[in-house]
Amino acid sequence: MSQHLMNTYARQPISFVRGEGVWLIDAEGNRYLDALAGVAVNGLGHAHPKLVKAISEQAAKLIHVSNMYHINEQARLADKLCEISGMDRVFFCNSGCEANEASIKLARLYGHNKGVKSPEIIVMEKSFHGRTLATLSATGNRKTQAGFEPLVSGFVRVPFDDVEAVRQVAAHNKNVVAILVEPVQGEGGINIPYDASGYLEQLRKICDDHGWLLMLDEVQTGIGRTGTWFAFQHTNIMPDVMSLAKGLGSGVPIGACVARGVAAETFTYGKHGSTFGGNPLATAAGFATLQIIEEEDLRAHAEKMGDVICNGLRGALKDVAGVNVIRNAGLMIGIELDRPCGDLVKRALAERLLINVTAENVVRLLPPLVISQSEAEQLVAILGKLIKQFLSE
Ligand SMILES: *Cc1c(COP(=O)(O)O)cnc(C)c1O
Repeated sequence: MSQHLMNTYARQPISFVRGEGVWLIDAEGNRYLDALAGVAVNGLGHAHPKLVKAISEQAAKLIHVSNMYHINEQARLADKLCEISGMDRVFFCNSGCEANEASIKLARLYGHNKGVKSPEIIVMEKSFHGRTLATLSATGNRKTQAGFEPLVSGFVRVPFDDVEAVRQVAAHNKNVVAILVEPVQGEGGINIPYDASGYLEQLRKICDDHGWLLMLDEVQTGIGRTGTWFAFQHTNIMPDVMSLAKGLGSGVPIGACVARGVAAETFTYGKHGSTFGGNPLATAAGFATLQIIEEEDLRAHAEKMGDVICNGLRGALKDVAGVNVIRNAGLMIGIELDRPCGDLVKRALAERLLINVTAENVVRLLPPLVISQSEAEQLVAILGKLIKQFLSE
């Protein structure tokens, strides 16, 4: 451990030297089952041969040039993203918060363009949109914001999964220009709307009625994780704007703000930019990621493995007092307990299993999309035993 790193993370006392599929391996050769995938980043697992090949070949050709030039790999990925989403245009950046920054700037500009001088964006309680000033201001968690006031203004907060609250804002606030929402809240505790497609469909209708943009933060839900390319594809609606990052580059930093219709035409020359955004290496990694997900049919597989894990855990934890609910959207899995359970992360580590706890009492699993049935069963066996033991103390 270095004394020269800022103390921004509570790190587990472990480091890894290489990976192989869902396994991470430490310097002593111990193998850990990775059920977190770098927080929904390593969808293809670690060291996927086709990804390694695509990245190595691209690195040998060209890593970076400026956006002052046409970048073929960037254009190819934009075309692919629009083909699989039905959206129109993409702006590339380097992370999830930057993708949301772009969405927020786009919404404000959209507002100004139609004469709203002080545009506001509806955001949700318990949401997470990132750590930059605008995105932490949009985030619905006081812990993320504390100490960084004054916050960026222009956000109106309502409870998640509460259409009536949005309608009430619509009735009296003429400055609103957009809604920014996660289809499934990740950091907030794997919160799935009660009627998941109905919720988004009703938000879509409110946006249409008022000329607002529907902006989905799919940074965690996107790129196959919930069983479709994007979570909105479980519904019949389309967003106007969608933010992507995490799984898109399989670990090579990349983010994207994807837009449709009038929103896709809002950013014009000089309105936004990024030095690294969309460089040849990152966009080659993104393109390879999408190709591999397609070739290996990983969306359907993610949905199936999500069921295997959840049904397995439901069986293992049946009649165990203290388990509130087990919920999932594909391989976004939350096991909500009746008490804080941060200690489970350490206990799992001792069993060579990597998990996460979020919102204090929700065990969060985000395994690689490539997890096999037998690996999923191993995960269930270890975690089921750990949770049972933890709750019996
Ligand atoms: C992780 C996450 C972000 C922030 O992404 P960074 O790459 O860490 O900036 C934003 N929104 C959601 C939904 C996320 O899960």
